[in-house]
Amino acid sequence: MRLPFPFPLATLIRFPVDLKNHSVLNSSISHPNIACKYYRNWKEFGKICCGKGMKLFDSHCHLQDPRIYHLAPQIIRTALDSGVLHFAVNGVSEEDWTMVKQMDEQYHCIVPCFGLHPWYVAERSPNWLNSLRNFFETTPWAAVGEIGLDKGLRGKEINFTDQVQVFHQQLELAKWLQRPVSVHCVRAFGDLLEILQSAGPFPAGVILHSYLGSAEMVPELAKLGAYFSFSGYLMSIKPQKAKRMLKLVPTERILLESDAPDALPKSNLDSLFWIHRDGSGPQELLSGGNLASGVVDPFHSLPHASRDASALPKGTLNHPANIHSVLTYVASLLEMQEEDLAEISYRNAVALFSYDGSKVLRKETETMIPEATA
Ligand SMILES: [Zn+2]
Repeated sequence: MRLPFPFPLATLIRFPVDLKNHSVLNSSISHPNIACKYYRNWKEFGKICCGKGMKLFDSHCHLQDPRIYHLAPQIIRTALDSGVLHFAVNGVSEEDWTMVKQMDEQYHCIVPCFGLHPWYVAERSPNWLNSLRNFFETTPWAAVGEIGLDKGLRGKEINFTDQVQVFHQQLELAKWLQRPVSVHCVRAFGDLLEILQSAGPFPAGVILHSYLGSAEMVPELAKLGAYFSFSGYLMSIKPQKAKRMLKLVPTERILLESDAPDALPKSNLDSLFWIHRDGSGPQELLSGGNLASGVVDPFHSLPHASRDASALPKGTLNHPANIHSVLTYVASLLEMQEEDLAEISYRNAVALFSYDGSKVLRKETETMIPEATA
């Protein structure tokens, strides 16, 4: 698979970010065609989030995904302006590790993560592990991920013995590197617990991304060093079940993520950002009625109650700024103030990703964003 690289490095521009107030200053870049009707526009949205002092850390996403890679400059800018200050960008296959590395070089706000996802285990090359080690040698500030186990619809087509072997090898690598590792687990929590118990503990942390496991497993997993990261997928399980599980997660182990471009939250369209499945943009980057850019809201005639993500065409892509919707939902289940959960999850993520040499530890006074390719 050939992946696009649509902008030359020469087009990189810099503009300062006031890290204390979490806002981008003196931006000379034009308004991206992304907005949020509820907040009228992205600036207002950003002002409200930043005004509340909310900083967010997207603990797991895939901004290198070929479906959205060409929109990354706009996507990242909008998310930054909304208060999302860091993005743990997870590679999933040998092919996209290079993309993750390129993004790492272009954005201070990106924490690169390299790993082989269970869906891509069958197509790994004989040299995959050496190649992975090389990425950590040349990018020593990287974390590990996404790795994991999957017995779901797609995962059961991949030999499970191979999945376990590849998972084990990468867990060992994460331990040796003393890096956090982002783990995907679908219908394999029994196997996961057994493997983590035999290979653990993991003092550098294991991120159970988009956690949908049982409440009962939470204490066992937490004992081994697990962090529980929640995405829009949490909205796919019964709220009572989600609430029971959430209440057992130790406060210092809660993380939030977008998992963009997947896991579009089932929120009301008025508070969502979304990207058309074909990733064409920027006109295709709609929001719940971006009147400012003249885009007509195609859902304006829907009654308010039906104006949620299910009205969008199947395959509509998620935007990392939707981590705000995840925050709202998780805070409501935990009966917490959004601001408190934002602070807790941000602090947890910063602590987790503040290993030796991490980009999160660098005292950056400016961020670097490639010029939009609109
Ligand atoms: Zn993922």
